[in-house]
Amino acid sequence: MGESKGRAVVVGGSIAGVCAVHSLLSAGWEVVVLEKTTAPPTGSPTGAGLGLDPLAQTIIKSWLPQQQSDNLLNIHTLPLTIDQNQATDAEKKMSRMLTRDESFNFRAAYWSDLHGLLYNALPPDIFLWGHVFQSFCVSDDNKSVKVQTRVLETGNIVEFAGDLLVAADGCLSSIRQTFLPHLKLRYSGYCAWRGVLDLSNNENSGILAGLQKVYQDLGKCLYFDLGSGTHAVFYELLNTKINWIWYINQPEPQLKGNSVTMKVSNNMIKKMQEEAEKTWVPELVRVIKETKEPFLNVIYDCDPLHQIVWDRVVLIGDAAHPTTPHGLRSTNMSILDAAVLGECLMKSGVENLAVGLEEYQSIRVPVTSKQVLHSRKMGRMKQGLVLADEKVFDPKTATPQECKDLQQKCMPRFND
Ligand SMILES: Cc1cc2nc3c(=O)[nH]c(=O)nc-3n(C[C@H](O)[C@H](O)[C@H](O)COP(=O)(O)OP(=O)(O)OC[C@H]3O[C@@H](n4cnc5c(N)ncnc54)[C@H](O)[C@@H]3O)c2cc1C
Repeated sequence: MGESKGRAVVVGGSIAGVCAVHSLLSAGWEVVVLEKTTAPPTGSPTGAGLGLDPLAQTIIKSWLPQQQSDNLLNIHTLPLTIDQNQATDAEKKMSRMLTRDESFNFRAAYWSDLHGLLYNALPPDIFLWGHVFQSFCVSDDNKSVKVQTRVLETGNIVEFAGDLLVAADGCLSSIRQTFLPHLKLRYSGYCAWRGVLDLSNNENSGILAGLQKVYQDLGKCLYFDLGSGTHAVFYELLNTKINWIWYINQPEPQLKGNSVTMKVSNNMIKKMQEEAEKTWVPELVRVIKETKEPFLNVIYDCDPLHQIVWDRVVLIGDAAHPTTPHGLRSTNMSILDAAVLGECLMKSGVENLAVGLEEYQSIRVPVTSKQVLHSRKMGRMKQGLVLADEKVFDPKTATPQECKDLQQKCMPRFND
């Protein structure tokens, strides 16, 4: 390990940011996080479910209080041990299994539970909430970086100095934009309706019973229902909540503000529910219709970046590799980015920062690039969009090889 302590300024306090703090503290660094939202998220309105892969689970456990780390993660998540794809016949309202992998070793978490778990395991005073990143500059001798933020409460501009700026400011990263001003996210061709249905109270026990009859492995299975040119994903979260996502091909909508989540009107929700009735089996339709406040995500990714390090600035998480969600990668990649960054900086020490950052880039870019492109392919396949070989996947006529290709374990470097 190097001798003097490095100091990192992290912009963005979501999953990548909170993981970076754990990893950099373990590497002996001092850290401050500047996050624009005004308070730690508790049950965020836009947060829903995510799947944690085995390596991410191991890394998270290593960051939690040691005696309880197994327990803590298990208490906050549910197993996802089966990955199943099925074809839905819209006319007969029936589903037929295409492929089933029973050695899937993920766990399902609620976004805000995962964030809370990681955040609460950190010392206080590392996070500065309500601090909006404005700009940064690297000193002329390239020995330090200064970051300016606007404090929402006072309107004051405050400056933070460090050895390293970690950009964990998400897929629309403004720090990335300063290096790559012409980079545009690529619209996938579809949007995703999402929601979480709370089935924990008795009133909804009929819906749950109906669902369990048709989806018998609910509680441990990641279900993909494939229709004609569309697909839906759902799985159970802790406390009998059903997390669902339904992808719909459409022209790119106009987004307002700095978010990929769209405001939706009652009329849009009604139309979506009517469309669900024509597309899915009645049990899934009921889940969709009963969900309060479903929301709409516009799905983007980005051609893989070759560079995610510039002098004293490093990108991690969605800032480094905006991706579509089909491989359940973005949270897992954020956790891995943070862990690898910490390991590399622990080895190099702050004296040889450039070596550590170069190593981080050389480890992460090849794998995240492959995963972004694979996820893109999976999305296009499941949405019935034209693939690179000009073919279009149709679940009704899928070959055994095509069915196998649908499995999550085909993700490059899965379990590595
Ligand atoms: C509130 C919330 C809920 C989410 N819920 C889910 C979910 O349920 N399922 C799922 O799969 N993914 C969810 N995500 C996305 C998921 O966290 C990411 O796709 C993935 O984990 C990568 O995380 P990230 O930290 O790189 O990016 P993000 O999660 O997008 O975080 C970026 C962070 O940077 C902050 N930020 C951006 N610009 C600035 C600025 N100028 N100054 C200061 N701070 C800034 C943002 O406020 C945000 O906290 C959610 C993200 C957020 C923020």
